[in-house]
Amino acid sequence: MNIILIAPPSAGKGTYAKEIKNKYKIPHISTGELLRKVAKREDEIGEYVQETLSHGEFVKDEIVYEILEKRLSEEDCKNGYILDGFPRKLEQAIRYDELLEEKHNHLGTVLLIEVEKDLLVKRVTGRRVCSDCGAIYNINIPASLPKEDLICDNCSGKIIQRSDDNVEAFEYRYKTYLEKTKPLIEYYKSKGCLYTIDGNGDKEVVMKRIEEVLTKE
Ligand code: AMP
Repeated sequence: MNIILIAPPSAGKGTYAKEIKNKYKIPHISTGELLRKVAKREDEIGEYVQETLSHGEFVKDEIVYEILEKRLSEEDCKNGYILDGFPRKLEQAIRYDELLEEKHNHLGTVLLIEVEKDLLVKRVTGRRVCSDCGAIYNINIPASLPKEDLICDNCSGKIIQRSDDNVEAFEYRYKTYLEKTKPLIEYYKSKGCLYTIDGNGDKEVVMKRIEEVLTKE
């Protein structure tokens, strides 16, 4: 079971990926999370990634390919995985197709989660993440608050705000999504593997819509 999640920034990709991971027992691979780890490194690459993430810009393909290919070659990816945040542009989709061919693996299902822009802005300013395990919270949504202020429910790690979760960086990421990521929709539609999910509404309702598609596949 291979799944690709495509969605605008702050649509809940990470949240749904974690739900799918728990339900279908396949790893969740978020290039954003992998890159946030690289950004903590105190070397030239770490500094470059940290700077690029804080502006909401795309990280250079070579760096993304390197961390992704390393992660995909790990044992737990053998029976499938959920890709969250990759591919993000046509060149990456083509590179990914080549990689799948090399590995004799298949594309699987592509889920496009659509959410209205007003709701995305509301979510982005309230989003908080655990700096250790990546668990996601939202201070604008009562059901998504941690039990204890600033402490992760899962691992007791520190809850922080991502450097790119501000309105300015969001606008840049949203514009980039429309320009670079949206063309992937036609690409995957033509391959017959794209399913569109209405991402407006409560997490449980959206998750049901996702499950309906995945059980049919
Ligand atoms: P995300 O957690 O998916 O919202 O990603 C956070 C940030 O990581 C993005 O705004 C980009 O700066 C970077 N990033 C994540 N995935 C990619 C990718 N496939 N290509 C380039 N940059 C990426």
